[in-house]
Amino acid sequence: MKSLFFPCHMCGSYDSEMLTSAYLADGSFCKFQQIVICKKCGLVYKNPVIPELNTLSYSKISWGDGTIFKKRISSLTLFLSGFFKEISPKTIMEIGPGPGWLAMSLQELFPASKYILFEASQDVAELTKQNLPNATVIPATIDEAYINNDFADLAIVCGVDYLFPDFRRAIEKIHKLLTINGYLYIERNVFVESEAYVGFPIKSYKDLFGSNVLMTTWFAVDQYKQFLSLFFDIVSEKSFFHDETDGFKCIINGFLCKKKVIRSEYYHGNTSWYETNMASLRRLNKESTNPISTNAKLQPVATKLWNTFQFWRLHE
Ligand SMILES: [Zn+2]
Repeated sequence: MKSLFFPCHMCGSYDSEMLTSAYLADGSFCKFQQIVICKKCGLVYKNPVIPELNTLSYSKISWGDGTIFKKRISSLTLFLSGFFKEISPKTIMEIGPGPGWLAMSLQELFPASKYILFEASQDVAELTKQNLPNATVIPATIDEAYINNDFADLAIVCGVDYLFPDFRRAIEKIHKLLTINGYLYIERNVFVESEAYVGFPIKSYKDLFGSNVLMTTWFAVDQYKQFLSLFFDIVSEKSFFHDETDGFKCIINGFLCKKKVIRSEYYHGNTSWYETNMASLRRLNKESTNPISTNAKLQPVATKLWNTFQFWRLHE
């Protein structure tokens, strides 16, 4: 079985401590995968990662008709167009485009650009291709894809990087495939201190680590910026309030980054996020507060539905 075992994605240390066993899609604990915290820098990550055990399928149904995404996509397009109106990126690559709505919106702004879209689900990729017949749609994850270096002027990674099985290698790959003056726009709402995912308050370890079994990394927000700074200069950032459930706020953070020469492979700075991340985690109940079902027989079904819903909500 393909299993991935890593040093810390941020600082390269193997010195970590276990927080909990990782969760499987039926809500039970995995026998092998663990959620650990790096004792040196405080990164929280899944280790080892065994992709075959983290089964969660995406389907066309997960996306609905897109109405809910429209407002979000037009504001993001406006944000990006502010930076790129002078220089149209020749090649735009998006990882995890879903049905391709952002690319469709960008295509109106940059009609001459080439679009290369990596969509992991073949089912969804068919829809992407249908929506963007002129784009190259590749039904693969970034890990699976063979891509040349210095290839894209703009890479877009919205709400999917925390799902990369081999997180660090995927970020390195994105860095390499960008041209020398290339940009990355990356966005996530999965952080150690996140109060809520979209429409879903985080009250327990299970809410934070088990709501989507594909998640692999949880940084503090400023720690994530430090991580990105190993590979990129952050040109602009955008943090916006998405919604609130029972007083728990969902905040999404977006970073527009410019490729830079990597000076240091791993983070060797003096800051450690271990204490602050542990403090963030201490607010959480280690028991489940999954609101869908407390009935053991219904739990696997409920969790699967919840995961599908969560995946869809996370991509709003
Ligand atoms: Zn570390």
